[in-house]
Amino acid sequence: MNAVYLDYSASAPLKPAARLAMIEAMDGVGNASSVHQFGRKARQQVDNARASLAGALGVKPEQVVFTCGATEANNMAMQGLAGRQLIVSSIEHPSILQAAPQAAQIRVDENGIINLNQLEELLKASPSPALVSVMLVNNETGVIQPVEEVVKLARNYGALVHCDAVQALGRLEVDFTTLGVDMLSLSAHKIGGPQGVGALIVREKLGLASLLKGGGQEMRRRAGTENVAGVAGFSASIGTLADDLARAQEWAGWRDEMESTILTQAPDAVIIGQKAPRVATISAIAMPGVKSETQLMAFDLAGYAVSSGSACSSGKVQASHVLKAMGLRDEIATATTRISFGWGSVRQELTGFAGSWLAFYQKHHARKAA
Ligand code: PMP
Repeated sequence: MNAVYLDYSASAPLKPAARLAMIEAMDGVGNASSVHQFGRKARQQVDNARASLAGALGVKPEQVVFTCGATEANNMAMQGLAGRQLIVSSIEHPSILQAAPQAAQIRVDENGIINLNQLEELLKASPSPALVSVMLVNNETGVIQPVEEVVKLARNYGALVHCDAVQALGRLEVDFTTLGVDMLSLSAHKIGGPQGVGALIVREKLGLASLLKGGGQEMRRRAGTENVAGVAGFSASIGTLADDLARAQEWAGWRDEMESTILTQAPDAVIIGQKAPRVATISAIAMPGVKSETQLMAFDLAGYAVSSGSACSSGKVQASHVLKAMGLRDEIATATTRISFGWGSVRQELTGFAGSWLAFYQKHHARKAA
């Protein structure tokens, strides 16, 4: 039996268009900084990728800084502006939280949505103009954050806004100007592009310090030889995003069907963030009383690759910071798995997973009753 891949939010399969663009780029030779014809050809490929990424996000090519992924883009955003008070949501990716350990944190409610009133309090209390970072879509729950509201509030207090849009691209329309943010992080491998490449989109004239020191690449904002094949693949995957966006409703239908099949037969199951606006392709489901790790292994054996909402450190299962921030009981927070899917998925994979989930649930309850 072929295993079913339902872990797109960890990394989506490479799209054929991205693969082709990368192969073509890898067949080339040359450093994009070299002045000879080989270098110029490589430079042209990087420039083309930059232009198409800029076009898709409604920005100028000079606003795109290619990075080795969203981790670097997030680090750069948090560390590139001196003298600003940092305010981040408590459900950000570790690449924000650990790059800004001194930041004040915005709480979320039980649905996983940030508390805008508290954000305003923090902005008011900030001794210097702030930089606020709030993600557009949470990677563990799929819950959509009110980033446009964050921007409105921030503007009243002279604050800047960074947004991690990694899990939003291809699931929601993402337009830099409409969102109104000052910086936006993206990652190619979540949308069918290659791993190890991403971008930080930066508002014009924002003097952002370079994280990496060395050559003058990316208009002196990111030293290091350009990843020509990577950005070519990134740009090709960006070119296919309209196909994914067109399927959002169909995908929401698949997810709803899977969730309601589970809830009907397992009334104590919990869909995390179900009452909040969510993207279609992420579902976090708790099977109370069964540790996520145990579930993951059982699902893996049954042929379904999903992931856990909790991190295992030193042999002790710990609830994820996101689920904890939502105030979920440990019994729920340590028993959650994340199902995520996308462009290569078919409906039967989700109905099959719901069946497998219920079979495991029933086995667990039968064992408990025995
Ligand atoms: N932010 C979010 C919301 C993510 O889901 C991820 C990937 N898990 C990252 C940042 C980091 O992206 P990358 O893998 O490109 O470093």
